[in-house]
Amino acid sequence: MGYRQMKHELYVIGMGPGREEKMTLEALQALEACDTIVGYTVYVDLLKMRFPDKEYMTTPMRQETRRCRMAFEEAQKGKRVAMVCSGDAGVYGMSGLMLELGREYPDCQVTVISGVTAALAGAALLGAPLMHDFAVISLSDLLTPWEKIEKRLRAAAAADFVICLYNPSSKKRSDYLKRACQIIFEEAGQELVCGVVKSAGREGECAEVMYLSELEEYPADMFTTVFIGNSETRIIDGRMVTPRGYQNI
Ligand code: SAH
Repeated sequence: MGYRQMKHELYVIGMGPGREEKMTLEALQALEACDTIVGYTVYVDLLKMRFPDKEYMTTPMRQETRRCRMAFEEAQKGKRVAMVCSGDAGVYGMSGLMLELGREYPDCQVTVISGVTAALAGAALLGAPLMHDFAVISLSDLLTPWEKIEKRLRAAAAADFVICLYNPSSKKRSDYLKRACQIIFEEAGQELVCGVVKSAGREGECAEVMYLSELEEYPADMFTTVFIGNSETRIIDGRMVTPRGYQNI
């Protein structure tokens, strides 16, 4: 084996939904070991108090490519760099783009560290909605045309998946959740148990169980994750539960 040059190190880290207890130990240790933390402004602000001595670099939303290139360029200066994302970096996060761009920086080595995604943090607050097969769909049409989102919603509902919706709403897309509920109702043909979780693991955290007809009117915001049960999902003592079927065997 020939001599292999040490590569510059970058970590793409999922911080979990918010509070430090929800971060994995691996993520915390990787952050501790880094010199520079790069991320979207909101998440970086959450970290500044915990790691006041790090160097921070931020870019606003919609500047993802620039943010990633900034991370690679810092690493090339000899810094150990962490690119942070909320939840898991591989779920509507930055790990894909980092690996795509990584081809242009062959002297850099990217390591991905998993985190607790909003679907899992939220599911625990609601009860056990994701006990059976589920589909995760983002309602954001910034990068995916609405026709494709609608097709996926229809397919998931027709196949009786539990559906977890990310990015259910924003100022420009205030009626998307309503449209999604109507599509799901058309395919499922029945009232379904649903749940919403706002700001899981953060200040103002709240979880509510309701029915699909109520969900249609729910004022979701950009920190809300929505859960739509399958035909068997029930409310048990106020909690949303999708039976796996253990009691039938
Ligand atoms: N990488 C993130 C998802 C980013 S997409 C993850 O794995 O969780 C942004 C969407 O994630 C939001 O619109 C919302 O639907 C969901 N989300 C992120 N953080 C959340 C939180 N703390 N509570 C509820 N939903 C959250």
